[in-house]
Amino acid sequence: VMHLKDIWKIYQMGKIEVNALRGVSLEVNDGDFAIIIGPSGSGKSTLLHILGCLDRPTKGNVFVEDKEVSKMTDSQLAKIRNQKIGFVFQKFNLLGSMSALENVELPMIYAGKHLKERKKKAKELLELVGLGDRLNHKPNELSGGQQQRVAIARALANDPSFLLADEPTGNLDSKSGEEILEIFHTLHKMGKTLVIVTHDPEMVYEGNKTIKLFDGQIEKAEVRDFGNIKRNI
Ligand code: ATP
Ligand code: MG
Repeated sequence: VMHLKDIWKIYQMGKIEVNALRGVSLEVNDGDFAIIIGPSGSGKSTLLHILGCLDRPTKGNVFVEDKEVSKMTDSQLAKIRNQKIGFVFQKFNLLGSMSALENVELPMIYAGKHLKERKKKAKELLELVGLGDRLNHKPNELSGGQQQRVAIARALANDPSFLLADEPTGNLDSKSGEEILEIFHTLHKMGKTLVIVTHDPEMVYEGNKTIKLFDGQIEKAEVRDFGNIKRNI
């Protein structure tokens, strides 16, 4: 469970204050497939970064499995992030000099896993996302959709309970986007809790919870039964 309570994020730009989030509260329950949607600048990425323990709110509380994390130190926050949360960035953020396998291994090195275990796990994860035959490819030798899949495999390296993704299909053609969506559905079936940011209105039907942001506030929040979800892979 993740819980945001009355979250404000104010960026100070010289004398100007930007209110990126204005009193946002939301709960992500275990097993949720949550979609965050809203226009450009409405605060989606800011919200996802706070949820993912990559950033702190100006005001308000963030609970990750009953731990209040908003006032933790950077290293405490990094620990929560490494143990519990996988984050897929919009622009993949893969290391260009490293192979797909090495990119997926990276978070496991930080977590102190041994070489043999690391290689095995990285290979399994790349197979899971359909890249078993691309282990030694560098990012620039992979298509956009394949790079996105490496980024997903990397986010899963330390077996997080939560997988957060910022516009994971935004840069992809529709076929690659479909493939990424199928991977998310597989992961959801495997028990991961998903929070996906998108501005594709069609994607709303993929999940059981929709949070619509407008101008830093929740304009609409909706919960559906999984039984009523249009698509079921
Ligand atoms: P998009 O769909 O374009 O990615 P978004 O919904 O993800 O938009 P955010 O990136 O969360 O929007 O930004 C919300 C608001 O906060 C915007 O007005 C943006 O200009 C502002 N903002 C975001 N990051 C910063 C920052 N580091 N410093 C100052 N202002 C920022
Ligand atoms: Mg954004």
